[in-house]
Amino acid sequence: MKMSRTVLAIHGGAGTLLKDDMNPEKEAAYLAALKASLLAGSAILDKGGSAEESVEAAVISMENSPLFNAGKGSVFTADGTHEMDAAIMLGKNTNCGAVCGISGIKNPISLARSVMNKSKHVLLATKGAETFAKTVGAEFQPPEYFYDELRFNQWQKVKGSDTFALDHDIDPGRKFGTVGAVALDVHGNIAAATSTGGMTNKRFGRVGDSPLIGAGTYANNATCAVSCTGSGEYFIRGVVAYEVSALMEFKGMSLQKACDEVIHKRLLKIGGDGGLIAVDSKGNVCLPFNTAGMYRGIARQGEPMELSIYGD
Ligand code: ASP
Repeated sequence: MKMSRTVLAIHGGAGTLLKDDMNPEKEAAYLAALKASLLAGSAILDKGGSAEESVEAAVISMENSPLFNAGKGSVFTADGTHEMDAAIMLGKNTNCGAVCGISGIKNPISLARSVMNKSKHVLLATKGAETFAKTVGAEFQPPEYFYDELRFNQWQKVKGSDTFALDHDIDPGRKFGTVGAVALDVHGNIAAATSTGGMTNKRFGRVGDSPLIGAGTYANNATCAVSCTGSGEYFIRGVVAYEVSALMEFKGMSLQKACDEVIHKRLLKIGGDGGLIAVDSKGNVCLPFNTAGMYRGIARQGEPMELSIYGD
């Protein structure tokens, strides 16, 4: 049987990330959090574990950090609550699971994985998803767990207005983001996972691209595994994650070409900003973004980790 050389790539959100706005402590904290996520996910791949387990572990690590807009660090809604979205998808059989608009769940990505493995459904929303969470023994946390003073202050700036925003748009000094992971395991299977708190001050049960299969998350062994971050409404309109896969499948493009076409041409054309991470089953990795920066990292088996924040 052919064995693949494994690879894991992660993102912690894209946006106006400029070196001048960063201080050394903050930069070090982000790099340490990205490294911890890569270590969590690559430890599984190194032991021969699956891409499914690896992307979940990498995302859990970032959900448990207050630095990212997912899980513990989720942004505030217009009502002062936290509503989280997450999705996971497997390239080997296109199985997938997702949750949206959920509150109080410590690790939304694990609940998405339970939807995939323990229900006959793909996407569960709000209260119903929380009821399902109880049936599978998911860990709940009280609202205080999700409270972060800086996030609260971000929300105060736009509270009562119609503004909803990517967290890094509100205060250029504070940059958090949706998290995601894509992996290729030793068996040649790929997977993608994405988790987010969405947009600060969101109302009306707004759901972004992250939990929508094909928009913010997609995986198919025949093409690629993709996790997106950015202005969700545009990623939904562009069906961005699937678009990368479709360009590979139907136009025969390489992973790199398909990613460039989608992020630097098609998404820009409709006014969308953000980026994505993608891996194919040969182990090629692309991390394109059309913003100033994107928290990102790659761990290839047997090679030093690569961690980056800014653009060129
Ligand atoms: N794409 C996410 C959303 O629109 C936000 C982000 O990437 O930070 O919900």
